[in-house]
Amino acid sequence: MTRPTEITIDLNALIANCHYAQTLSPDSHTVAVVKADAYGHGAAEIAKALQQSVTMFAVSSLEEGIELRQQGISLPILLLEGCFTQEELFNACKQGFSVVMHNLKQYQMLESLDTNANIDVWLKVDTGMHRLGFAPEQVMDIYSKLNSAKQVTNVVLMTHLSAADETNNNFTNEQLAKFINCREQLEKQFSKSIKTSIANSAGIKAWSLARGTWNRPGIMLYGVSPFMPEDKLPEDDMQQHLVPVMTFKSKVIALRNVPTGESVGYGNTWVAAQDSVVATIAAGYGDGYPRTAKLGTPVLVNGQKAKLCGRVSMDMITVDVTGLTEVEINSEVELWGKKLLVNEVASWSETIGYELVTRMPKRTPRRTINP
Ligand SMILES: *Cc1c(COP(=O)(O)O)cnc(C)c1O
Repeated sequence: MTRPTEITIDLNALIANCHYAQTLSPDSHTVAVVKADAYGHGAAEIAKALQQSVTMFAVSSLEEGIELRQQGISLPILLLEGCFTQEELFNACKQGFSVVMHNLKQYQMLESLDTNANIDVWLKVDTGMHRLGFAPEQVMDIYSKLNSAKQVTNVVLMTHLSAADETNNNFTNEQLAKFINCREQLEKQFSKSIKTSIANSAGIKAWSLARGTWNRPGIMLYGVSPFMPEDKLPEDDMQQHLVPVMTFKSKVIALRNVPTGESVGYGNTWVAAQDSVVATIAAGYGDGYPRTAKLGTPVLVNGQKAKLCGRVSMDMITVDVTGLTEVEINSEVELWGKKLLVNEVASWSETIGYELVTRMPKRTPRRTINP
């Protein structure tokens, strides 16, 4: 018997979420974003499961791309930050990776590549996020250069939305207008249609103008809505259509009565207001449970909602199970998953589901289900 803490990864759920993204935007191709080890879900398993359903994968570094190739993934792979050195660009070319180009330095690296190189370039426009990309007024010039560069086989025009999850924020309309203007100018100048990519998960759902030749869903593939539940957006019926892919679970390993006035855990932060029953669960911040989780954070014990009591420690949490039925040592616990959404847990830690799933540590065993 090993420690009962683990995460399961439901591959059927993954495929269903991907198909949902495609139903929302049926005319677009899908670039599945599998950066950061597929948001903590295991990039190789996720990519293998998705390769029949998507046209491309996106990662953040050459190493992440090579890892997928070594695991037998042969679909095109896009490097979302492009290349950091000349040598890297050379290697990316050799691997057949597509690269984002977001600054002049990356263009200069490309100029000094062998003219026999064949590279697919995703030209990034900074429409207002001000993180990466060329200013709209620079786009005509850089696009013309790329268009005539022998090394370049194809150019896709892309941008990234900074507030697509805030569905009543007009900033997204401003970004879209700038982007569409760039695209139209290029189409006029070069008398051809320009391929585009704008939307992340929130963009696919909430901004129809953001749907492009390629969409770039990440978080929704994993069954997590990019909209936080407390924002109560009318558009956020998204979670209803998604199935959480990751379930983080453990078991009760101890159970005790804590009399009124006694405290639980480090720093004695929780004091029993009544005679209580407290369950100790084998999962802590060393397993990926957030230490910042506040008192009262929901935890499902034997399918019933209980409240976190006491501080999260490295290997354990304690939960108030007073009045719950049939809680015993070895009772099943869901920290987050299909019945308790990771976004709900995240909101008790002042973070978002993205962070909680992505920062799962190595020590938590990961098991694939429904292959
Ligand atoms: C991470 C990322 C995405 C995916 O965003 P989600 O909100 O997870 O859907 C899309 N595009 C770019 C450029 C990214 O960095």
